Amino acid sequence: MSDSIAVRSVVLYRVRVPFVEPFRISNGVVAEKDAILIELATEEGIAGWGEASPMSGSFYSDATPDSSWTALRERLVPALLAVGQVNPATFFEVLREQRADQFAKAGIEGALWDAYANSRQRSLCELFGIKRRPIPSGVAIGIFETIGELIGRVRRYVSEGYQRVKIKIQPGWDVEPVAAVRARFPDLPLMVDANAAYTIDDLHVFRELDRFGLMMIEQPLAADAIEEAGELQAHLTTPLCADESAESLSMLDQLIEHKAVRIINIKVQRVGGLSEALLMMQVACAAGLRCWVGTMPELGIASAHALHLAMHSGFSFPTDIEASSRWYVDDILEPAITIDRSGFIRVPDGSGTGFKVDRKKIERYTTAVERFEL
Ligand code: MG
Repeated sequence: MSDSIAVRSVVLYRVRVPFVEPFRISNGVVAEKDAILIELATEEGIAGWGEASPMSGSFYSDATPDSSWTALRERLVPALLAVGQVNPATFFEVLREQRADQFAKAGIEGALWDAYANSRQRSLCELFGIKRRPIPSGVAIGIFETIGELIGRVRRYVSEGYQRVKIKIQPGWDVEPVAAVRARFPDLPLMVDANAAYTIDDLHVFRELDRFGLMMIEQPLAADAIEEAGELQAHLTTPLCADESAESLSMLDQLIEHKAVRIINIKVQRVGGLSEALLMMQVACAAGLRCWVGTMPELGIASAHALHLAMHSGFSFPTDIEASSRWYVDDILEPAITIDRSGFIRVPDGSGTGFKVDRKKIERYTTAVERFEL
């Protein structure tokens, strides 16, 4: 079996899919998913799909859907078509040489893996030697106007089966909402995510949060405040988790060196693709850190890729990947991603991701298309 495929064409679709409701975190609000879908076709006419999914408005990272679109059309797609016979297992090395954001890289690598898997009639997880298992799913809840609304939301998601609840915090919305949720749900696996909204001067806030038996505190400080995170971690019992800080293998090395965190949230999109994500998981686990798979969130295609990765036994906390209906009225995959009553997601059997892309829906939400052929 050859370990490479010949890519003949690439189509980029810019899509805007409305969220069920706007999502508010410490640094902005988003109302729709603005993403880029990448469709590859091999010489034999076999398709593969990928997704580049930075947050719009550049409030999570510097990358935006516009910058990913430019990087894909000007650099990554030409680089892929120039390779000829492409081996998906080593293509990340080609991507490392390219000036492009991680989201664009993750999108094109995902499409390549999917096309390769489809051409071999194997599933993505099989290609990576990952054994199938049901994936525990947790829910992430944005910032609300009132504690009452927050509690109502926690209650709803817990009743839907989610295995842990993550609430977003920011200065002025931290100890009080956490205390309120903890009082009503004493045994709930609960964590918070600050999206980098605090500094080391807020140590007193984290000391208070330390009393609530949280599973972890995600990204309390700025992405590059690695030494300060080490200092903060030394004062707390609750493990800190890196998200924005865990952008690359070199950032991971710094986190390990400064004992900045005990947990890593690995997002396939943010780290530049499945290969980089797996490498980071292996390095983190070897250093004694625990890992889990996060989400931005993405549409179904990128979520499906991440779900295959999340089945790896190296990921030992519930994923942030949720049911499609948590985010979208109308995601672009068939079947939709669902959680069962016990809070598990099961990935369908079949080649590639096991999900099918719904072209009618993609058409409905497409705002721009660009085709490239050899
Ligand atoms: Mg986060």
